[in-house]
Amino acid sequence: MRDKQKIRQYNKKYRQTHVKEMNKIQYEYYLRNRERISAYGKQRYYFVKKAVIEFFGGKCVCCGETQIPFLTISHKNNDAQEHRKIIGKARSFYSSLFINNFKCDFEIVIECWNCNCSKLTNNGICPHKCNQSL
Ligand SMILES: [Zn+2]
Ligand SMILES: [Zn+2]
Repeated sequence: MRDKQKIRQYNKKYRQTHVKEMNKIQYEYYLRNRERISAYGKQRYYFVKKAVIEFFGGKCVCCGETQIPFLTISHKNNDAQEHRKIIGKARSFYSSLFINNFKCDFEIVIECWNCNCSKLTNNGICPHKCNQSL
């Protein structure tokens, strides 16, 4: 009984030190390559996003915003979840569209975050459109 406990404790300790070592190695790798990793990731993401957004019109369909960081893709028929099921969790809509030459079975429109998010709290209609009809 005591021996079992000892073994268990030893294993636990071994795992803990091992994890620390692993983290240290990963952390050092991260420090050495920090700039390269983040620049590559960001640049690539921006490049792919820009290509997708330009293909689908390059501006918010509601308010006309054209700056890429403000823009996002929107599923016109609210079928983003179905689309997500097809492409899987690991891949973003942007890279999936990019890889498939912008072809997909869903109706994609470009919206800015303002218009996209405000629809959620306004029965699916952007407040811009409400103002226009007043
Ligand atoms: Zn907008
Ligand atoms: Zn709007």
